[in-house]
Amino acid sequence: MKLDTSHMRYLTTDDFRVLQAVEQGSRNHEVVPTPLIHQMSGMRSQSGTSRAISDLAKLSLISKMRNIKYDGYRLTYNGIDYLALKTMLNRDTVYSVGNTIGVGKESDIYKVSDKNGNSRVMKIHRLGRTSFQSVRNNRDYLKKSNQGASWMDLSRLAAGKEYQFMSMLYSKGFKVPEPFDNSRHIVLMELIEGYPMRRLRKHKNIPKLYSDLMCFIVELANSGLIHCDFNEFNIIIKDEVEDENDCGFVVIDFPQCVSIQHQDADYYFQRDVDCIRRFFKKKLKYEPKPDSSMLDTNGFGDGYKYAYPEFARDVERSDNLDELVQASGFSKKHPGDRSLETAVEGMRNPVYDNLDDEISDEKTEDEKSEDEDSGEEEYYDSEFDDESSGNDSEDSQEEENERII
Ligand code: ADP
Ligand code: MG
Repeated sequence: MKLDTSHMRYLTTDDFRVLQAVEQGSRNHEVVPTPLIHQMSGMRSQSGTSRAISDLAKLSLISKMRNIKYDGYRLTYNGIDYLALKTMLNRDTVYSVGNTIGVGKESDIYKVSDKNGNSRVMKIHRLGRTSFQSVRNNRDYLKKSNQGASWMDLSRLAAGKEYQFMSMLYSKGFKVPEPFDNSRHIVLMELIEGYPMRRLRKHKNIPKLYSDLMCFIVELANSGLIHCDFNEFNIIIKDEVEDENDCGFVVIDFPQCVSIQHQDADYYFQRDVDCIRRFFKKKLKYEPKPDSSMLDTNGFGDGYKYAYPEFARDVERSDNLDELVQASGFSKKHPGDRSLETAVEGMRNPVYDNLDDEISDEKTEDEKSEDEDSGEEEYYDSEFDDESSGNDSEDSQEEENERII
């Protein structure tokens, strides 16, 4: 689903008023009846509403639905994109939209700029995109998820959760991107200049990087949370670090986090640990050696902590972020939103081998052996530069971006 902002600046205040009315009406109507749209928009003349409706439908921001009982309109993904962007424009957090820098199964990631030209990342949640497509193909556009919430509602919930998690974690000093804004299904955050850890083949201190990642998992759990999708795809290795001792990683992608009180907490924790272990063993040929004399304190030979953390042994609660952000499973009394739960269940460490876009980025065996031969002090795959962060200066990036007002 592409984000086309080209019509944004031509929409009038009335158009937005009517678009917002369709959104409001969608809360309790699958198809919002035209008279209700008019009423909620607060527009004075019916003809004004009709004109706006017709313009919005032409741009596919709303779509006309024929119901058995009445005709009406429904907000489309384009429509909710426009509403969220407009909100962020009004708050001065976004000014222009640039290229896509990542397409996940459940999200689109864009590089955007604020008014001062600072680059940021805009993550648009698109939960159930695949199911949504097939729903549309079946012409059963109105089908709701099993629990009664639409995919659009769930995307909105997921974005809200992610923003809350990130805000809390950032304020506590965790290595996560700084979150700037959230509207509906969109989260705006700091752009991390770097590359996904899955491309990492060399690093100045692999044992320390491993240990720092394990410490992150344990500290996160001490604060009450488990990431549940902690792997080489959701860890960005920064291009540059200020502090020499900094291993330069940042963790992203939080909507599926659970509380350490979740009934499967032990399992999710262990799986996060195992994912990192597996990556280091397979791609970096590194396995921490437990130091037998230090086994009890969980140290290991290289002098770093947490060769292989265990939930029951190593997690000691020191904070209650899970309760503050109402992470899934934080309390039996508050089981969380079941429909969101079901929807994000698949995001908890899914099988990445099926993701074409991610696989296509992987190096071929030939490229790998070339790298090994070259012996260059290169920490990652340079092809990535051409693909995404590019060699644009801030200025040229600014030109490429599409102004949305
Ligand atoms: P998904 O939930 O679809 O997996 P992610 O949050 O993991 O979405 O983002 C997908 C990809 O977009 C990441 O793998 C990363 O390459 C890129 N990305 C996401 N957030 C940022 C960020 N703040 N800075 C730089 N790149 C990012
Ligand atoms: Mg991800």
